[in-house]
Amino acid sequence: MRVFSGIQPSGELHVGNYLGAVRNWVALQDQYQCIFCIVDYHAITQEYEATALAERTFDMAVSLLAAGIDPQRSVLFVQSHVAEHTELAWVFTTVTPLGELERMTQFKDKAQRQVSVPAGLLNYPVLQAADVLLYRAQRVPVGEDQVQHIELMRGVARKWNARYGDGFFPEPEPVLTPAGRIVGLDGQAKMSKSLGNTIGILEGPEQIWERLRPAVTDPARVTRKDPGNPEVCNVYALHQHFSPSATVEEVAAKCRAAAWGCLDCKRVLAANITREFAPIRERAAALQAAPEQVREILHDGAQRARSLAAETMSEVRERMGFLSAEGAARPR
Ligand code: ADP
Repeated sequence: MRVFSGIQPSGELHVGNYLGAVRNWVALQDQYQCIFCIVDYHAITQEYEATALAERTFDMAVSLLAAGIDPQRSVLFVQSHVAEHTELAWVFTTVTPLGELERMTQFKDKAQRQVSVPAGLLNYPVLQAADVLLYRAQRVPVGEDQVQHIELMRGVARKWNARYGDGFFPEPEPVLTPAGRIVGLDGQAKMSKSLGNTIGILEGPEQIWERLRPAVTDPARVTRKDPGNPEVCNVYALHQHFSPSATVEEVAAKCRAAAWGCLDCKRVLAANITREFAPIRERAAALQAAPEQVREILHDGAQRARSLAAETMSEVRERMGFLSAEGAARPR
């Protein structure tokens, strides 16, 4: 069984990425052959800073390695280092129905926020299909927001197979964590770097506190004396991921009784998040001090990925009837 997943080079991992997907990446390495990709071609479908892209890509590699991706067991590489991703994506655009792409929730959300919508944003899930199917991976550990894209990917595999492949591409299945969708500190939208509502896993105690302090809690709790409802509070939801169960119960009880104010509750959460990520921060600092080591890991990862990708593309070209570039000046 082969596993593939990708993440955009947004600099550092945030709590949403970590709880929603990357924790599973780390765990799956024990059982499966895993391929993890920093998807820089996906990142350029929205406005981005060209001068910062390389650094963000590097920093994401540091975050992933620090979080527990083990380059001895898994392949870690950068998408734009393996040309076959865009090549297969083009092939897949020819079997993907336009209407299905237009119906993708993420496309509709992101398109709404743009004055002019680039075709790349529409084709984002096609590139994703190419990412996974290039390695003929059967499992894709992602967050809940990606399930619709995996469904589309299965359709792409099915349609290509029906025309050319007879079972050549597997129909990949998502692997979800129990965390589901992590809501951002605004208490409303999905936690996402582009919305600025995140906590980064490499942030120090002061930064974590700065982010948590203004985080939205139960909107009905206007003053310190109002009893709160933990069920509608995102800070309480985060406690469930980072605090021991006794603390979670204590938080709920003290919130309901107005024995704690929101700041008291946030202070405990900040301490627990800091503790959970402390070893990851330490490993990240060591990697940042040895950039050559990180570059070597990515170089090696790209080489391994390229050789798998080349095999798939050569099969794809042959099955689709392209004239071979090797040797033959004229068709046989
Ligand atoms: P972002 O949305 O911050 O740009 P990516 O699109 O690169 O992050 O997502 C990387 C992985 O993290 C994907 O598998 C995605 O499903 C998961 N993920 C991102 N944000 C969240 C969230 N708020 N809750 C759960 N999973 C998430």
